[in-house]
Amino acid sequence: MRVQINFDQCEGHGRCAITAPAVFRVDAEGYGQVAVEDVPDEERARVERAIRLCPKQAIAWVSETV
Ligand code: SF4
Repeated sequence: MRVQINFDQCEGHGRCAITAPAVFRVDAEGYGQVAVEDVPDEERARVERAIRLCPKQAIAWVSETV
């Protein structure tokens, strides 16, 4: 599955990168970035946790229905 960050909602602080460091990182200003869009199965639980812990609800799975 793929994950994305809504940059209009993200306010930095990098909680996502602390929670799932294999998938998220922070840029020079501290805003979250997706380092690995196609999330490996073994990282899904951490990403779910990052989604729950993001204080701005800026992280979401990407619907892959076309
Ligand atoms: S936890 Fe949420 S608000 Fe914080 S850097 Fe990550 S995406 Fe942005």
